[in-house]
Amino acid sequence: MKIAFLASEVMPYAKTGGLADVAGALPKFLSGLGADVRVFMPLYREVRKKNLPLEPVLVDAALDLGGKRVTFSVSAHRAGGLSVFFIDQAAYFDRDQLYGTPAGDYPDNAERFAFFSRASLETMRATGFRPDVVHGHDWQAAAAFAYLKFSYADDPFFAGTRSLFTIHNLAYQGLFEKDVLGRIGLPESLFNMNDLEFYGKVNTLKAGILYATAVTTVSPRYSREIQTPEFGCGLDGLLRHRADALRGILNGVDYQDWDPATDRLIPRNFGPADLAGKNDCREELFRMFGLAAPADLPVVGMVTRLAGQKGLDIVCEALDSLIGLGLTFVILGTGDQKIQDFLLAAQKIHPARLGLKIAFDERIAHTIYAGSDIFLIPSRYEPCGLTQMYALKYGTIPVVRATGGLDDSIEEYDPLAGSGNGFKFVEAAPEALLSAAARSVEAFRRPGAWKALVGNAMAADFSWKRSAAAYLELYKKIAATA
Ligand code: ADP
Repeated sequence: MKIAFLASEVMPYAKTGGLADVAGALPKFLSGLGADVRVFMPLYREVRKKNLPLEPVLVDAALDLGGKRVTFSVSAHRAGGLSVFFIDQAAYFDRDQLYGTPAGDYPDNAERFAFFSRASLETMRATGFRPDVVHGHDWQAAAAFAYLKFSYADDPFFAGTRSLFTIHNLAYQGLFEKDVLGRIGLPESLFNMNDLEFYGKVNTLKAGILYATAVTTVSPRYSREIQTPEFGCGLDGLLRHRADALRGILNGVDYQDWDPATDRLIPRNFGPADLAGKNDCREELFRMFGLAAPADLPVVGMVTRLAGQKGLDIVCEALDSLIGLGLTFVILGTGDQKIQDFLLAAQKIHPARLGLKIAFDERIAHTIYAGSDIFLIPSRYEPCGLTQMYALKYGTIPVVRATGGLDDSIEEYDPLAGSGNGFKFVEAAPEALLSAAARSVEAFRRPGAWKALVGNAMAADFSWKRSAAAYLELYKKIAATA
């Protein structure tokens, strides 16, 4: 089975969120199952800076993007039996950030990622890699499905190629003005409701939903939620229309990177049988964040994009009461200026009880997973969510809102039966969050119960093995469709 995997961010090369984790791990596990997977991503500045040993694949290639000749090269990094192909187009990708600066998205993102999609397909042709399935992720790769359908419709090279589109977050749709179609080399006739038009704009994500052979989301519950007006971001009708081709496969965890027993980014390793190292991690966390809090009260970690989706507004509203419950917070995040300002102001009020770093930092993130007692994820919606699964492995108990993949992966702790792995609340409101947080504090105060709960959490297995097998099954099914 030959798979071309198109993603705009891939660990360990470039990352802004969960997509990178998935695109770094899933191909590895698929190739472990015998699939021939080639990953395609842009050669960003931050990848260039890593000075990886890259093999040239294409030199001085060019393609026509809406009447404009764009030159590019392709080089490959081979690691662990996997090939990652970097699309090198300096004007588009040799920039400070992946998608934009704090001032906003790069204005030419439509062209940048359409080009990435098109150049990836051209690379497959030029290198004779004829995929059974093109598997593209999120709006940044969605133009590939339009090209396959309209630009390569009569190309025998792709005649046997089927396609899978994975939605990691429906809210990011790649919306652009109408004239973008011409500039990315797609027919202007696609500007109609049944194709790519969406309330007067071009919706890139629609290309994936409409033209891919099948569509997945990253959790089963999210695949159902997005078919409702509440979670559908205006696309629920279209998703219901494609319901037969739509399903959810829960993301997994790459325990090679996320295991407290072997993690090199945390101050001391630990495992379910010996939790002494977890205490050292907690002390290191206090030092890192300049905190002073009683040892018998829990520390709550958050590693998150500071975005409306993540429910930070609920935390902000409930913060004084949460600290009043005895909780100490460590928060690592980047994003929305208003949320940053609120948290920075709150930190001045509670300097010993609220640790805050506005940064994107892998090492601090790992130390928070390892050193916290509780991990808070109050998302308004959550397509899958990886952080609750990481937290579990580090014996850090998730308190989550019951939505999407959070609801699929977290089971409410039952003190009588001793079952469950976390605490959940349903309503997106401070009182509901407070009540779940209070239940977690109560459990924390009973060391025997807490130890059992931590045991449950660390025993949970969300490894990629099962999910990768589900993807492989789906590829086979898709490849067999007419
Ligand atoms: P999303 O993709 O919506 O941001 P996920 O839970 O799927 O949410 O994935 C988030 C990933 O990004 C996790 O690996 C998390 O550890 C990481 N992450 C988020 N914010 C930061 C940060 N500020 N520093 C380091 N890692 C972060």
